[in-house]
Amino acid sequence: MSEVLVRFADVSKSYDGRVQAVAGLDLEVMRGEVLTLLGPSGSGKTTTLMMLAGFEDPTAGRIELEGVRIDTLPPHRRGIGVVFQNYALFPHLSVAQNLAFPLSIRRMGRAEIAGRVARALEMVRLRGFGDRRPQQLSGGQQQRVALARALIFTPSLVLLDEPMGALDKQLREELQGEIRRIHAETGVTMVHVTHDQSEALTLSDRIAVFDQGRIQQIGTAEEVYERPANLFVAGFIGENNRLDAVVLDAGHLRLADGTVLGCAPHGLRPGAPVVASIRPERAVAGGILAGRVLEVVYLGDHCRLRLAFGGREDFMVRVPRRNGAVLGTAHPFAISADAVRVFATDSA
Ligand code: ADP
Ligand code: MG
Repeated sequence: MSEVLVRFADVSKSYDGRVQAVAGLDLEVMRGEVLTLLGPSGSGKTTTLMMLAGFEDPTAGRIELEGVRIDTLPPHRRGIGVVFQNYALFPHLSVAQNLAFPLSIRRMGRAEIAGRVARALEMVRLRGFGDRRPQQLSGGQQQRVALARALIFTPSLVLLDEPMGALDKQLREELQGEIRRIHAETGVTMVHVTHDQSEALTLSDRIAVFDQGRIQQIGTAEEVYERPANLFVAGFIGENNRLDAVVLDAGHLRLADGTVLGCAPHGLRPGAPVVASIRPERAVAGGILAGRVLEVVYLGDHCRLRLAFGGREDFMVRVPRRNGAVLGTAHPFAISADAVRVFATDSA
C-alpha cells in the first residue's frame, strides 16, 4: 500500500465565495486502501468526494488520479464508481438494467454485459433478483445493487457517501460486512464518507478526520483513537473525559481539585493551562485515585460510573461489573501516565 492513487494538492472549494467548504486540502489516497473521511455534518466530506467524482469543481488546487490531472475532466471520463446515501437507482429500470447501464454507456457488447451483470449480482448475493424493480427490494438490498453498479465497470476507485445512512443498525452492519468482503475480494480502492465513528473504525485502513473543511488528523483507526492530534479529534473519536489542569513539571499535572496525575506533557511549560483527556476505559479499577460515585449505569457487558473527580461531576469510568460500585461511596481507580493525553487549552 505505498502507491499513491489519488492526490489532492492544495484543493479549496467555496460555494458562495466567502465560506470555505474545503480549505487547502492536501490528501493522498493509496492504491488498494479503504480511506474514510470522518467528521461532523458540514465539515466538507461530501464536497471532497464530489470534487473527486467530478460533480463539483474545486475553486483552487488540483486533483490527480494515477498521476494524471482529473479535476478538469467530466465525471464519466474519470472512471470512478460512486454510491450515494439515497439509493439513486433508476426506479423504472429492473435491477439487471440498472447494473447494465454503466456498461452500455461504455458501449460494451451484449454478451459481456450479461456476463458482468450475472457476476455482479453474485458478488452482492442477489442472484435471482435481476428482474425486480428497485422498489421491490429492501433498503439494504437496494444499496447492494448500488454498490454492484458502482463496481461493475471495474473502476480503480469507488466512492461511497454515507451508503448506510438510511439503513437501520442491523442492515448497516450487514452492509459493512459486504463492503469489507468485496474489498477483500476485489482489492478496489475505496474512499468512504461517514459521520459515524464506529463505522469508520470498522471499515477503514485509514481515517481522515475532518472539521471545518480541514483534515485534523489522518492515520489508522488505532492512531487516531490512541494518539489524537488535538482536542477535536480526541472528542470526536471515542468517549473522553476532559479535565482542566495545570502542568506541574515534565511528568505531572495538577487537576482543578488538586489531584496530581502522572503524564507526559511533552514540551509544555510548568504553569501552562491544559486539558487532560482520558478515556473512560483507561481509568482502571483499584488504585490510589478516588471519585465519589454519583451514578451507576448497567449496560450488560459493563457498567458506567459517573464520578465526582478532578473538580468535575461528570467523570466517566467503565467497570466490568456492578460489584462494589455503591452510590455515594468512593470508587478507587488508577490512570497510567500513558492514558493521559495533554493538550494546550488553545489546541481546540
Ligand atoms: P459534510 O458532507 O461533511 O456534511 P459538505 O461537504 O456537504 O459537508 O458541506 C460543507 C460546507 O459546504 C457546509 O457549510 C455546507 O453548508 C456547504 N455546502 C455544501 N454543499 C453546498 C451547496 N451545494 N451550496 C452551498 N453550500 C454548500
Ligand atoms: Mg455529506
